[in-house]
Amino acid sequence: MSFNRPDQLLKLQESFDICIIGGGATGAGVALDATLRGYKVLLIEKGDFASQTSSKSTKLVHGGVRYLEQAVKKLDWQQFKMVYKALHERKTLLKNAPHLAYPLGLLTPCYTYWERFYYRIGMWLYDKISGSTNLKSSRGLSKKEIQQEFPAVASQHLTGGVLYYDGQLNDARYALAILKEAERLGACVINYARLDSFVLGQKSLKIKKVVFTDTCSGHSHEIPVKAVVNATGPFTDKIRSLANPKMKPRMKVSRGAHIVLPAEFWQGNTALLIPKTADGRVIFVIPWRGSVLVGTTDDPDTLSETPTILQEEKEYLISYFNRYSAKKASLKDISATFVGQRPLLQVQLESALNTDTKSLVRDHEVEVDGRSKLVSIMGGKWTTYRIMAADTLDVLEKVVFNQKPINCLTKDHVLVPESAVSLPEEIPSDIQAHLLELYGPAAGEVYSYGSERLLPSEPYLAGELVYLKKHEMAVTWEDVLARRWGISLRDEALAERLQATKKEAFAS
Ligand SMILES: Cc1cc2nc3c(=O)[nH]c(=O)nc-3n(C[C@H](O)[C@H](O)[C@H](O)COP(=O)(O)OP(=O)(O)OC[C@H]3O[C@@H](n4cnc5c(N)ncnc54)[C@H](O)[C@@H]3O)c2cc1C
Repeated sequence: MSFNRPDQLLKLQESFDICIIGGGATGAGVALDATLRGYKVLLIEKGDFASQTSSKSTKLVHGGVRYLEQAVKKLDWQQFKMVYKALHERKTLLKNAPHLAYPLGLLTPCYTYWERFYYRIGMWLYDKISGSTNLKSSRGLSKKEIQQEFPAVASQHLTGGVLYYDGQLNDARYALAILKEAERLGACVINYARLDSFVLGQKSLKIKKVVFTDTCSGHSHEIPVKAVVNATGPFTDKIRSLANPKMKPRMKVSRGAHIVLPAEFWQGNTALLIPKTADGRVIFVIPWRGSVLVGTTDDPDTLSETPTILQEEKEYLISYFNRYSAKKASLKDISATFVGQRPLLQVQLESALNTDTKSLVRDHEVEVDGRSKLVSIMGGKWTTYRIMAADTLDVLEKVVFNQKPINCLTKDHVLVPESAVSLPEEIPSDIQAHLLELYGPAAGEVYSYGSERLLPSEPYLAGELVYLKKHEMAVTWEDVLARRWGISLRDEALAERLQATKKEAFAS
């Protein structure tokens, strides 16, 4: 069986131990963990994998400098624990898929001597909490050193800065890699499969079956399952109310907008952390796959399938970029934009409903509905997806299966196995770099589908389209451009040119 829809649909004839709803980072993590524990797993995703929040993150694998600051200032033990967990998880994410997650240096510019001292101590603490999992030690820099080493930064009024390290990931492809591996080990994984309802037991009102629609064919499926995990991120409350209409909402949605600029606006490989904007936010300027990512915002929002950027968000992000960058940009230089919705967990129901989203803890919680036995995994962040999955299954096994949890095996599980087909050495260097960056050990196999370029000056290949359909379950052009290649999130004009070359290859 391969990772394509026809093969996965063939697996639907049987019943499953665990059905996971949602194919973002969280659902993917649960699917792999559950499969490795030996369960028969079905995962359904109503759109494409990672098409919601999980492909629209700032792409940092981080503990969260801002969360550490909040934890220390408010003596908040819960927040501190979350930073600790995430910091220790960074190295695992990088180790298990090194072509999709790698270290990133971030510079914090300082404008007073007090700030230099404050951030130096803060980053020292960040290193210390990471312990043996620290990626690289932070260091203080004088104004002169910044001018020499980081010419991209506007140096007016600087007193110095602090350089520290976190990770950066290709979020959409990381989710895909987790799902592909779960499938390879036996899970049934289907995109464009929308959960519509549950069939409940007549007396117990426990979930007995999931009812979902294959939105490509319109066919409805009713599949017996022993347990259901709701991993639908911002959509969590909708699924909870389908299982038990009496459950009160727990999620609060916050929007985060990003703009993307061409690489020429930010030279070098080091990112910038703007630690405090006038309205108390953190903004990053990040070199990202040949472009520059600037974001993000953090404002309460209403749930949407297709959140789009507002003019004022573009202006806000450009104005902060221009304050800190030596090379100035204007709105017309923006090559792409994207907006994600954070699935934030309301901790104390009544008070949290009126809470500013910037101060809600980005931790997670596993909830089991006493009546339907729906297991919902809520909150969290990309960096902690694996811990969230392990916690979810531990709770599910104890509460729903009434058994001692089986050991979690994901910590040392490499996500993309070595392939028997190697990449020829004498191919053009841009194609080689492109294939290795996206497919890692599978690059040779992808190249075996053909070497014809779609556009003369770009490394994207016609053969890749065949591979993406057969082995990465791409259904529409958007699946290819936004998530398999990630181009429409960086360069909307290039995305259009690529699509025009072979419009007929995928649905629009
Ligand atoms: C702007 C922004 C920046 C962020 N930056 C970072 C960062 O730098 N680092 C970090 O660690 N974290 C970051 N995060 C947090 C991180 O991105 C999220 O916590 C994570 O992606 C959530 O994943 P998820 O799988 O829970 O949700 P999602 O990715 O939203 O996945 C849920 C899935 O459920 C599916 N679904 C919904 N209803 C149904 C249904 N009825 N049937 C089937 N499927 C359904 C949806 O289509 C969706 O794909 C950021 C978040 C945002 C918004």
